Amino acid sequence: MATRVLIAGGGVAALEAALALRKLGEGRVSVEMLAPESQFWYRPLAVAEPFDLGEVKHFDLAELATAAGASFSSGALSGVDAGGRLAHTSAASSISYDVLLVACGAGPTPAVAGALTFRGPADTERMRTLLEEILAGQVGRVAFVVPWGAVWSLPIYELALMTAAYLAERELADVELVLVTPEEAPLRLFGRAGSEAVRQLLEERGIALRTGVRPVELVEGELRLVPEGTIAADRVVALPRLRGPRIDGLPQTVEGFLPVDAHGQVHGLADVFAAGDITSFPVKQGGIAAQQADAAAEMIAANAGADLTPQPFRPVLRGLLLTGRQPRYLRHEITGGGGDVSEASPEPLWWPPAKIVGRYLAPFLGYFAGVESPPEAPAAPGAVPVEVELEAAQIHSLVAVRLELAADPEAEGGATVSEVMSTDPLLVAPEDTLGEVAEKMRAGDTGSALVSDYGRLIGILTSRDLLRAFAGRVHPSEARVREWMTAEPVTVSAATPIEAAVTLMTEYGFHHLPVVDDERPVGMLGLRQATRQARGRIGIGLGL
Ligand SMILES: Cc1cc2nc3c(=O)[nH]c(=O)nc-3n(C[C@H](O)[C@H](O)[C@H](O)COP(=O)(O)OP(=O)(O)OC[C@H]3O[C@@H](n4cnc5c(N)ncnc54)[C@H](O)[C@@H]3O)c2cc1C
Repeated sequence: MATRVLIAGGGVAALEAALALRKLGEGRVSVEMLAPESQFWYRPLAVAEPFDLGEVKHFDLAELATAAGASFSSGALSGVDAGGRLAHTSAASSISYDVLLVACGAGPTPAVAGALTFRGPADTERMRTLLEEILAGQVGRVAFVVPWGAVWSLPIYELALMTAAYLAERELADVELVLVTPEEAPLRLFGRAGSEAVRQLLEERGIALRTGVRPVELVEGELRLVPEGTIAADRVVALPRLRGPRIDGLPQTVEGFLPVDAHGQVHGLADVFAAGDITSFPVKQGGIAAQQADAAAEMIAANAGADLTPQPFRPVLRGLLLTGRQPRYLRHEITGGGGDVSEASPEPLWWPPAKIVGRYLAPFLGYFAGVESPPEAPAAPGAVPVEVELEAAQIHSLVAVRLELAADPEAEGGATVSEVMSTDPLLVAPEDTLGEVAEKMRAGDTGSALVSDYGRLIGILTSRDLLRAFAGRVHPSEARVREWMTAEPVTVSAATPIEAAVTLMTEYGFHHLPVVDDERPVGMLGLRQATRQARGRIGIGLGL
């Protein structure tokens, strides 16, 4: 009997996976796609809409699913019973599966208070209004901001460059534009050549650049940075911070992302895979989403008996930068220490010269959009194809995934987390049942437990998670900690200054912060104790 694969999602990763499974599954799999929206949105051109340089395309999702060999059901995945292989939907129904692939994407949340958060097509009109206000002379200084966190930063560069081109065409020279980013260099992910090309473009268009800073809010003409500093700005256009949708019964990070292995398998859950923006891979890009979907589809097909050796996910970044004039194509293969190969060229390095590259999806969408595929990809002048394994640590170092606050050297000798943390946190195992942990929490009179696997901290479980699980009517002796914990929690070390820990807790809204030594859990910091200590030291300056 065919393996029943349920794909939750109807975006880039979901469609790429369905197409890959149709090709690789060879009749061994049947695919059902579950998504709440009836359309597939091709979002990359959203940045061009306010300038009338392009428009967002959309396609009927059920039609695409059918053409990709999948059946389509309308609804949102709300919870998973991994043991019973049941997917619960928003329509209060359940779908039985053999393998689940979660490809629900990530939703935008405002990252910079007071900014125009550019989420995509929904913000075209607000961006147009801002351009009108600039033209009317009401706005003289605009900052374009990449927030810290997992984002795809390219769109904000495009918005800044297109704004500059738009203003230059109208001979408005005295508007100050600045691009503000936590990246060490502009578009650092695209490697040296890509980054340099963008830096030059920004310079040519008169856009100032501030790198290595973390903006948090616009207040009275000043963009406030953490831990300190400001940039003058009348208006701020910021990318959103991305969050995965909450799905009960799956180990998600505090940002709602799912940690997966190189084949897309969700840690500790044998029949659950994930691909795309919802995974904890820090680069949220369509091409990457498609590559993850391919890796997961290969593993699923192989498990179903297809004769293939599943290849792990190896990210290759490709990008087409819209500048308002001639587009730039960027390509970067993230190498495992063997060098940094990146290119910037006005010629496309791949076909179709589209903004999202998927092995199966690009030609598929090309067909639907009525674009013919040339027999061969055009050769890129000077292109050097390199394929080297990704080192996860390298990519994490290039992306400001989480807020990190370095110790202030001036504050040496100040209070540290070690002085306030509790040193005997409740430790539980991922395979413990929720019933067992609830009993231990009650006995220890504590509202949280650290989840440790072979001595390494992999999660945190709080009384709020228990409430969520029991409200969802899970059985206390069947549901496991792994399915309900927050995975890969934000942590501090015992040497972290107390003020930095309080800032982290405030920014994230945490009541508990695990303390680790390397990856080993050594303590727990409670918000109340931390703020009491911090207040004692710095008065009311924290505004808590
Ligand atoms: C303005 C903008 C410009 C961009 N430009 C580029 C670019 O130039 N190149 C590029 O490669 N990438 C670009 N991206 C990023 C790219 O769009 C995403 O990385 C990509 O779409 C991620 O694919 P995905 O399948 O993970 O998620 P999505 O494509 O977002 O799809 C998620 C799907 O899941 C569905 N869903 C949501 N919740 C549930 C649920 N609970 N159950 C079931 N289904 C659910 C949604 O309805 C949707 O169908 C851009 C993004 C934006 C916003």
